[in-house]
Amino acid sequence: MAYSSSLWEHDSFLKYNYIIIGSGITGLSAACSLLEHQAHARVLILERGLLPSGASTRNAGFACFGSPGEILSDLKIMNENEVMNLVASRYQGLQLLRKRLGDEALGFEEKGGHEPIPNGVVISDAELHYLNDLLAPIFNGKVFTRKTNLLTDYGLNKKYFSDLIFNPFEAQIHSGKMMEALLKKAASLGAKIITGCMVEKLEETNIGMSVIVHDHHNHSMLTFKADKVAVCTNGFAKQFFPDKDILPARGQVLVSEKIPHLLVNGTFHVDEGYIYFRDVEGRLLIGGARNLDILGEQSTEFEANEKIISFLKQFAIENILHQRECNFEFQWSGIMGVGANKIPIIEQVSDKIIAGIRMGGMGVALGTASGEKVAKLLAN
Ligand SMILES: Cc1cc2nc3c(=O)[nH]c(=O)nc-3n(C[C@H](O)[C@H](O)[C@H](O)COP(=O)(O)OP(=O)(O)OC[C@H]3O[C@@H](n4cnc5c(N)ncnc54)[C@H](O)[C@@H]3O)c2cc1C
Repeated sequence: MAYSSSLWEHDSFLKYNYIIIGSGITGLSAACSLLEHQAHARVLILERGLLPSGASTRNAGFACFGSPGEILSDLKIMNENEVMNLVASRYQGLQLLRKRLGDEALGFEEKGGHEPIPNGVVISDAELHYLNDLLAPIFNGKVFTRKTNLLTDYGLNKKYFSDLIFNPFEAQIHSGKMMEALLKKAASLGAKIITGCMVEKLEETNIGMSVIVHDHHNHSMLTFKADKVAVCTNGFAKQFFPDKDILPARGQVLVSEKIPHLLVNGTFHVDEGYIYFRDVEGRLLIGGARNLDILGEQSTEFEANEKIISFLKQFAIENILHQRECNFEFQWSGIMGVGANKIPIIEQVSDKIIAGIRMGGMGVALGTASGEKVAKLLAN
């Protein structure tokens, strides 16, 4: 007879109120929000990787909500209300994340955010006033200030950059610490997490959901049952929602060896947010430049893109490190979920399936707020 589940497995391991697919920041936050309101709910999180394997442990650790250049560019494809709501969700998400886990557990350092402006690019005083007026209700104060003199303090190349805009509300975190704390929090609230468990298929009936995975050890399929399912698989969500406007977008990240007297201090965004860099434990982290090869980076494979990597190394040496050569000791890529605009897709897809996907490039900020919205839809 083929392998089949026991009565004990059936009663204690396979039946849940809610199953969440994906243990990134969105899925884990959804589990925490659910269990904070329904302490006795049976919640299972299924993660295909042995570690969370999307963007949440592979990002740059910016606790950010949008640089002036990026927000101005967003205003070309979204209306004022949409942009304001997005910035508010990011900022509120960050406050909720801090409240839930605490700044120490996040490695949260509020050093401020910076946008160095390359020669030939202009963000006018009128544009800054406009952005500050737009965002004042969210931050209860002025967000962006021109501080050109900081280019010297941070040792940035003044032949390349001519200006800098500062905001005091941005911070950096240690994404590993954040995810470790979030995993512990979800487990302490009662969520069960199974890793190495790729969900192959979802089946919906009028009595509930079947979530089907491969049980490699027993050479069979295993079916978990739930009242409702949330899909929080971000850049990998086409598997479940082929018709949704979501595409994978890979990002490259490099971290240097320790650099004595590194002047960079805080988070920095260039070129509408496409290039970003920061200090981390005396090292320089630099990443992005996806716009050099948008199609090549439209991938769910965690591969290196040599064209982008050599550009980022050159950019670091020429414009950040005063021509000082250095080794890059860590190099990785991560996969985001993006679409025609930056608004996440958080919706009831059917009676028993909720989608919480497309967190874009600011999911550290958006993931918590989005998880809370997913939890509300599940609990409805
Ligand atoms: C290189 C890079 C740098 C970034 N930098 C920043 C930054 O500095 N600040 C910021 O705010 N945001 C940043 N982001 C974006 C941010 O990391 C993401 O928006 C956020 O992590 C998304 O979280 P998530 O939980 O929605 O998705 P993910 O973290 O991608 O989680 C989805 C999970 O679903 C799992 N999964 C997929 N399919 C299945 C399946 N079939 N069965 C089971 N599990 C499955 C995946 O393994 C993954 O763990 C960056 C992203 C990248 C790639």
